[in-house]
Amino acid sequence: MAYTVNRNVKLTLWERIYLPEIIRGMYITTRHFFINLFGFVPFFLGQKKHREIFTVYYPEETVKYPVAYRGRPVLALNENNLPNCVACGLCEIACPAYCIDIIPAENTGKQNEVERWPKEFTIDYAVCIFCGNCEEACPEEAIFMSDDCEISMLDRSKMKYNLEQLLVPIDQLKDRVEFTRKMYAKWNY
Ligand code: SF4
Ligand code: SF4
Repeated sequence: MAYTVNRNVKLTLWERIYLPEIIRGMYITTRHFFINLFGFVPFFLGQKKHREIFTVYYPEETVKYPVAYRGRPVLALNENNLPNCVACGLCEIACPAYCIDIIPAENTGKQNEVERWPKEFTIDYAVCIFCGNCEEACPEEAIFMSDDCEISMLDRSKMKYNLEQLLVPIDQLKDRVEFTRKMYAKWNY
């Protein structure tokens, strides 16, 4: 559901004075600071097993992202150890950042597992805007937005992932597959 911002909100006199709102903001920040600080002390004294604070010590600690989160797009590797992708090119066309490149390969009669598949499939994560259009456009449940966002690196050229790097077993994408089925069904495709 779209979120609507009401731009015609009238500020009260209290809000227009401005200063009380700054003080209120500082009060909230200070309160969180002391809650975190006192959550630390018993933990370091060994009186409590867990820190009662909100901070996550990334990268040693991580959080579980919600299923709707859009991390890097990946290709699903099905139960037969093959990509679901049939190299139709719809995701390539739907991509607003032009960061997907596909070279298809066709069945020449010698192979009989699938009719068509991607010989090469690359996504340049240095250009990708994580919009999810590729996932939405795909008719084969072959490309999904994963929860992996740890793709930063110093060399931009290494951010272009090839087919082998993009493949993820479908078991690891179960939640996202279910989520997209519900989401796209709701939009009456
Ligand atoms: S998430 Fe968006 S920008 Fe990234 S590959 Fe898919 S369609 Fe392109
Ligand atoms: S990932 Fe999906 S949309 Fe993209 S080429 Fe493969 S089958 Fe087509």
